[in-house]
Amino acid sequence: MDNYDMVIIGSGPAGLTAAIYSGRQNFKTLVLEKALVGGTGLMVPLMENYPGFDMISGRKLIELMKTQTMKHAEIKELEEVQKVEYNEELLRVSTTKGNYMSKSVILATGSKHRFLNVPGEAEFLGRGVSYCATCDGPLFVGRRVLVVGGGNSAAQQAIYLDSIGVLVAMVHRRNELRAEIYLQKLLEDKDIPLIWNSELKEIKGDQLVQSAVLYNNKTGKKEEVVTDGVFVAVGEIPSTQLARDMGVEIDEHGGYIITDKGQRTNLPRVYAAGDVTIGNNQWLIACSEGAVAALSAYQDIQIRK
Ligand code: NAP
Repeated sequence: MDNYDMVIIGSGPAGLTAAIYSGRQNFKTLVLEKALVGGTGLMVPLMENYPGFDMISGRKLIELMKTQTMKHAEIKELEEVQKVEYNEELLRVSTTKGNYMSKSVILATGSKHRFLNVPGEAEFLGRGVSYCATCDGPLFVGRRVLVVGGGNSAAQQAIYLDSIGVLVAMVHRRNELRAEIYLQKLLEDKDIPLIWNSELKEIKGDQLVQSAVLYNNKTGKKEEVVTDGVFVAVGEIPSTQLARDMGVEIDEHGGYIITDKGQRTNLPRVYAAGDVTIGNNQWLIACSEGAVAALSAYQDIQIRK
């Protein structure tokens, strides 16, 4: 069985930054990723608030971060962690492919999409329903789609879809967006239609999506609008199952892992960083939490020596 100083679970911005810091501290470091490196970071169409880049896509930034991380740590993709338990002084990390012993663990398991939970959503997944504009947007060039949600993700997805020639409109349940002002301004500049006070109640179609039923919660009226696709961007839910199974303390109100300022959880030598914590789901904050977690692990393990 391989022994590590640090095992990082998850390879989004938080996990990769933690790995760079950990490896540069001379910690033998392993990153385990159940899918492909990047997590939901891959789905960010364009960022204008990551220092050093006027504008960069999530995919490009992940590519750069992955290359840098590989100089300092080992990365294993398509390997899902099933259990983490203490084994005397070490943590035993069991995955779908093997077992690893580590002095410390960082949980950087990120978040997953919130579903709308309306009829047709699951049925038409991959046949007109999507959660990722950068992945599926090109399939809809010249066709009509609705983006549901009023936050940063919905606005970013709508702007991206418009930029590649998709005929996009946003559907929001209130008459005010939650998205940052600069995104609201872009939506306005690009004349992207907003369907206010409207809740998407059903997605209909045959083989593919053909229409959506919208309910106006101000007028009480329902209407069926023709659409080729529905992009759902109604928020994120932190991925905490592994943490829960380990006994890591969770804020039951928001569902996030609770940490101190050093990103320490309630369990010794177990840290958490990124969207799985009470952050703001910002790329930069995820990176800084990853860095802090790795630095705390270094301090804690040095003190124990
Ligand atoms: P979010 O900020 O939580 O916004 C979710 C949106 O979906 C809200 O407008 C909400 O409506 C709506 N919504 C929630 N449940 C709904 C339902 N059942 N039916 C219809 N609408 C529903 O989520 P997000 O946009 O995915 O962003 C998640 C986090 O990542 C946020 O902290 C965000 O700031 C951050 N983020 C940041 C950037 C950036 O750096 N610029 C980019 C993307 C995401 P209400 O407004 O009415 O609640």
